[in-house]
Amino acid sequence: MKIGVLAVQGAFIEHITVLRDLGAECVELRQKKDVLQDLDGLVLPGGESTVQGKLLRDLDMFSPLKDMIENGTPVLATCAGLILLAAKISNDAKIYFATMPMTVRRNAYGRQLGSFHAEAELSGMGKIPMTFIRAPYIESVEDGVDVLAQVDGKIVAARYKNQLALSFHPELDESRKIHKYFIKMCNDNK
Ligand code: GLN
Repeated sequence: MKIGVLAVQGAFIEHITVLRDLGAECVELRQKKDVLQDLDGLVLPGGESTVQGKLLRDLDMFSPLKDMIENGTPVLATCAGLILLAAKISNDAKIYFATMPMTVRRNAYGRQLGSFHAEAELSGMGKIPMTFIRAPYIESVEDGVDVLAQVDGKIVAARYKNQLALSFHPELDESRKIHKYFIKMCNDNK
């Protein structure tokens, strides 16, 4: 089991630590050749989606990553990663991979509520802690997208085929449920 973690910007180290703790082999994806190896899963970490999007183009990593996602490699996308997957961003003209049929709102909680913590039920996983940092939320989803969690009536977790997208940062909390679920997604896909 080898999982590639996008490592051009943002909170990637924390994902690697958690996944290694759970026994998965992880590689950092920093340049095109890293993406071209055999990978069983992909993590798109939080950070700044505009910066990540630009770096992916500059480093020529965008197309191979999009191909990987479209070909069904399981993806765990958190926060900025969720923005990269969205087919539509309601408050930004840019789009990135656009592989997940949903509309998201960037920095959706405004300045005052830039960061906060919540605990909510995630479908099939029970209650999990959720840390939001200048987070997006999902405004709407199209057919085929399963809504997995909501906080205050806003969608904060969803799955479409092998793409698992979260508004929050599971790598920053003690719970390992999300990463375990993702490793299972990768195993099931083999
Ligand atoms: N605000 C960031 C963006 O728009 C996302 C924040 C995060 O990943 N914690 O890309």
